[in-house]
Amino acid sequence: MTQIKNTLTIFLIGTSMALTIASRTVVAASTPNYPDISVPFSAESVNIPNVYYFPGQSGVPDQYNEGFTSNAGFVVTNKGVIVFDALGTPSLGAAMLREIRKITDQPVTHIVVSHYHADHIYGLQAFRDLTNAEIIAQGSTSLYINSPDAAERLRQRKKSLAPWVDDGTRVILPDLTFKDEMFLTSGNYRFSIFHAGPAHAPGDSMMMVEPGNVLFSGDIIQNGRVPFLNSPQVDTGKWMQAIEKVKKLRPVVLIPGHGGASQHAMDALNFTYDYLSFVRDRMKSAVDNWIPFEDAYQQTDWSRYEALPAFEASNKANAYRVYLEMEQAVLDLANTHLTQKP
Ligand SMILES: [Zn+2]
Repeated sequence: MTQIKNTLTIFLIGTSMALTIASRTVVAASTPNYPDISVPFSAESVNIPNVYYFPGQSGVPDQYNEGFTSNAGFVVTNKGVIVFDALGTPSLGAAMLREIRKITDQPVTHIVVSHYHADHIYGLQAFRDLTNAEIIAQGSTSLYINSPDAAERLRQRKKSLAPWVDDGTRVILPDLTFKDEMFLTSGNYRFSIFHAGPAHAPGDSMMMVEPGNVLFSGDIIQNGRVPFLNSPQVDTGKWMQAIEKVKKLRPVVLIPGHGGASQHAMDALNFTYDYLSFVRDRMKSAVDNWIPFEDAYQQTDWSRYEALPAFEASNKANAYRVYLEMEQAVLDLANTHLTQKP
């Protein structure tokens, strides 16, 4: 493995960021031997020069899909390769590297992680072992890494995804974290990375690539289906703010965390934004008027979303989660007023 020197320029905007621009020259002494994969695996073009993605299979990680259930992608610049997400096993991460090598000799310099969930991060191990790439994630990913959920998920995946996940599999920490947003340039490309959560996970982030206007959205923007909001820390207000910011950059192509890429990124963003706005508006007015959740849910006209995939599975739980969020906002406001009184 040749030694690689990182020569990228990084610009960061935001607050409370930890920045390390390393010129790492250390790679694993010997090439690790990850179990082979047999699932079909290749980088696909999204009809934008130098941008590729690996479309994962649908379903939950199992022996048939070998854990290849999420998407990842990469952008080739003349100063290196920027990768987005790393898939669900070290073997898949190594397979990504092999496919990248078929397209370019440029070193992988950075990996941006959409969020720390097992199906997107176990492949980081291969990048850590086989490259000098720097791993970038939003700062609250530490909440996941130190949680009992992370340990439990790894235990579960060792069973369901043996031999690809085993006792040697480890969760790799980011080298660099950011709070709200950060920008990175590599060659002629500019990468804007936004925290858009907590939504689906505490660190949910999206990455916009210019030129080409490709948006890597992670799991929080999907195409034509009711999004999943039912996570305890969900903050739909922040989620909408991040969508507003990213919409200003006029993305054209959307590469979601799961499912096929879309050539109509703005439609997908508008859809998610409108859904969040609709649910927030209805649940806020219910909370403001002291209407219990069940009544509020029944009184709401959901017809514009009823026919969509995941409506039955997600909509009511989403509405309840947002109702609680709106209630909490009222309580927070009341507390602020109380503490401000002399
Ligand atoms: Zn996922």
